[in-house]
Amino acid sequence: MDLKLRQPRSRAQMIATEYVDEEVGIVMLSEGVSVKELAEKCNRPAKDVVAKLLHRGIFATINQPLDTELAKEIAREFGYLADIVTFEEDVQISAEENNDVQGEKLPRPPVITIMGHVDHGKTSLLDAIRKTKVAAGEAGGITQHIGAYHVDVKDKNTGLMRQVVFLDTPGHEAFTKMRARGAKVTDIAILVVAADDGVMPQTIESINHAKAADVPLVVAINKIDKPGANPDKVQQGLLQHNVQTEAYGGDVPAVAVSAKTKQGLDELLETLLLVADMKELTAVYDCPAAGSIVEARLDKGRGAVATVLVQQGTLHQGDIFVAGATMGRVRAMFNDLGARITEAGPSNAVQILGFEDVPSSGDNFQIVENENKARTIVGFRQEKAKAAALQKQRVTLENIFSTLKDGLIKELPLIIKADAQGSVESLVGQLEKLSTDKVRVRIIHAAAGTVNENDVLLAEASKAIVIAFNTKAEKKAEELAHEEGVDIRFHDVIYKITEEIEAAMVGLLDATEKETIQGQAEVRQIFKVNKTVIAGSFVTEGKVQKSYKARVKRGEDVIFEGSLKSLKRFKDDVHEVKNGLDCGIALEGFDGLKEGDIIEFFTNEKVIATSLS
Ligand code: GDP
Repeated sequence: MDLKLRQPRSRAQMIATEYVDEEVGIVMLSEGVSVKELAEKCNRPAKDVVAKLLHRGIFATINQPLDTELAKEIAREFGYLADIVTFEEDVQISAEENNDVQGEKLPRPPVITIMGHVDHGKTSLLDAIRKTKVAAGEAGGITQHIGAYHVDVKDKNTGLMRQVVFLDTPGHEAFTKMRARGAKVTDIAILVVAADDGVMPQTIESINHAKAADVPLVVAINKIDKPGANPDKVQQGLLQHNVQTEAYGGDVPAVAVSAKTKQGLDELLETLLLVADMKELTAVYDCPAAGSIVEARLDKGRGAVATVLVQQGTLHQGDIFVAGATMGRVRAMFNDLGARITEAGPSNAVQILGFEDVPSSGDNFQIVENENKARTIVGFRQEKAKAAALQKQRVTLENIFSTLKDGLIKELPLIIKADAQGSVESLVGQLEKLSTDKVRVRIIHAAAGTVNENDVLLAEASKAIVIAFNTKAEKKAEELAHEEGVDIRFHDVIYKITEEIEAAMVGLLDATEKETIQGQAEVRQIFKVNKTVIAGSFVTEGKVQKSYKARVKRGEDVIFEGSLKSLKRFKDDVHEVKNGLDCGIALEGFDGLKEGDIIEFFTNEKVIATSLS
């Protein structure tokens, strides 16, 4: 048996290897493994597994998923130690395998989101690009709203046509909602700023959203046709928010455009290709498809329909899939022109019919081998979702301490909303000053205004706490915060905020242990009662309590440290013995006490830091 082919991949397996003799192999099984898969993993014909099951009085078809313990037992009978991986791990492992070895990685089109302040022309720009560019050659083709569309752009260097994919839900709400669900779909964000209006609150929000998601920006300075247009002013405004355009010595491309006259659109698209090239976007085409749900709804006639952005592999009609906590079979696929298609590769957005239920945008989408498997996975996810809903973890100022300890948070992320720009600036200044080399305050977003849904979404996605100074939360935002477990702290005095944040930061510091010596005893005689060694001792200093820790000293050496197994006065168990009295002491896990040993008793206390220094 060639064990080299079966490299241990999980910790459980590594532990398992220690106990495996040469004859036994290791197999990795995913939860809900089918009879056929189990047989393949154990190098046996499926009928052997069916026979083993029959022995147990179980009639199983070859596609039937097996109970985890049962699968392990059968593998064991074939001479294999089985390690069970969860679906998520399984998907992760296959994704990694795809990245590492399986399949050639080839370039893929970039996926773009448009963000910016209301009325700056996001929708107009999307429409203008769509109208001029969608499927050149299919003049007059009516585009369908599927949540995304593809445009063909000529690559100046090669003269070849290349695709760019736009997610057409403008605004950062959709973007953040997807990110909050763990989906990373956008490669580049276009930040639309109206040349006659300049940087506005939602422009800043968009910048912060893109930064938090680590997505590069391309600035589109729109409405350049207008008389009051001033692209320089826009770029100077952006500088104040750390967006340094190329004209101002930075690396963020900015293009002057007009959605109305179509001026600059080609240049904008070419710029997107350049940024995409720098990111070297690639994907494996030749593997089962995986991606994310872009949008989904219930259609009266067609049932649940959803748009999937394929991110790896190629999706085919007839494929069976799992999407979040629902599943289905691809009954039909349509592109953004409403044309029926039968396959879709990476970066393609396609509308799919065949969902059993409506998924949520941002849900992951994954092809699985068969319906049984899909059903098991979905059952498992629904169970998990239920359990998770019960113990949804809120990040609050009170529990951020333990969240940090769990390694989830490395700093204190904050979102600040205040009544006026002046108070925003002063708050940000004061809070940033609190940062020390041990704990850092990270302001993710700060703006004047009420706390809105976007703030809450951003807080959820970034595990941040929202501070509302002299301002309220919109009703919807409050409801969302409640639903998503986001902590909003309302205040009307600045120093109360700094005090509260400082206290939370102190809480983030590790507690230290402080030892206090409580007493000492001298061992005078050793007895053995039912094999337990009891040291007849005399308390020479302080006192001894049953709960104290003990340290045994022999001369200069410390020979044992641990806890007390029993503490007796004569034959009775007691809680405490004071200075000047005899007692019997037995130690937990140490029988080597001798006459003349000194036992020191101490307690450990956790000392929570009380200042940041
Ligand atoms: P959104 O809220 O960002 O999606 O903005 P819209 O696309 O709805 O545009 C807001 C307004 O600006 C509309 O009245 C548009 O007609 C107008 N608009 C958008 N782009 C341009 C442009 O390039 N030039 C001019 N003059 N008006 C524009």
